[in-house]
Amino acid sequence: MQALLFLEPVKKQTIWGGNSLAAEYGFGTPGEFIAEAWAVSAHPAGDCTVTGGEYAGKTLSQLWAQAPALFGCPGQPDFPLLVKFIDAASALSVQVHPDDAYAAANEPPVNGQPCRGKSECWYILHADPGAALLLGHNAKTKQQAQQMIAEGRWDALLRSVPVKKGDFFRIDPGTVHAIGGGIRILEVQQSSDITYRLYDYGRLQNGKPRELHVEKSLAVMTVPAADAAEERSPLPLQAIAGTAELVLLERCPYFTVQQLTLDGEAKFAGAETFFAVTVTEGEGFLNGTPVKKGQSFIVPHGTETLRWCGTLQAVLSQPV
Ligand code: ZN
Repeated sequence: MQALLFLEPVKKQTIWGGNSLAAEYGFGTPGEFIAEAWAVSAHPAGDCTVTGGEYAGKTLSQLWAQAPALFGCPGQPDFPLLVKFIDAASALSVQVHPDDAYAAANEPPVNGQPCRGKSECWYILHADPGAALLLGHNAKTKQQAQQMIAEGRWDALLRSVPVKKGDFFRIDPGTVHAIGGGIRILEVQQSSDITYRLYDYGRLQNGKPRELHVEKSLAVMTVPAADAAEERSPLPLQAIAGTAELVLLERCPYFTVQQLTLDGEAKFAGAETFFAVTVTEGEGFLNGTPVKKGQSFIVPHGTETLRWCGTLQAVLSQPV
């Protein structure tokens, strides 16, 4: 049986980050400010390192190149997923991501491959009372969007969506969005670091505003926006096995995301590719290996059965 590949997260700090990830998930020294912890990533902007076993010390990108059999993704040029924790003490900028075609045509290559666009999805780990996301907008045409942006009519333009723990959202390329303050999320996305910043609330970083990308944002934003209901639709239950519940949260052209809720024991079959797993609550064992809240690991391709026991919640991501 293949061993699980545990990964050390890559920590990032920004002007909006909080200090709860360290205490909540054990990612650093107590009180340390961590905006993002890239938990499963081989992206050059944050390449995770394997923490133990045969491959200890290798980065995920090295492992991808040197041991492709662990992943089972023939034809994929590089590791396709990025899973990260985000702790928004204050709001993230209002932003939008391009799709593959726009990114490939307008952004520099990454590792010699065309730059990927970014589809992402969010599982809400925590929300303060009254916390909200910005998701979508109210402009009917690009011209109207352009005018509202030029006039700074952000409250009229942007749609606010209240959130609570356990909610799930899909953010397609072209969807204008921002994570509000007081929210922690687990994000699963394409392995891409392309963000077009539309609005940053006039904030300063080191005395200067952060760069905006209004033209590119307008070029890629979907107008009119999708119906808000389409963006928050956990898909139906896929399987229940005794004390386990496996809910398919998302299936898009790039990845599937499932949530496992376990109290006891369960087993299910492995898949044609690897799984990237993040334990979001509790602890237990997977195929005899102890796992606990805050850990992320790869279940290698070729793992025939996943035998779980314990009391935990985990998010399982796989490439399509
Ligand atoms: Zn985003």
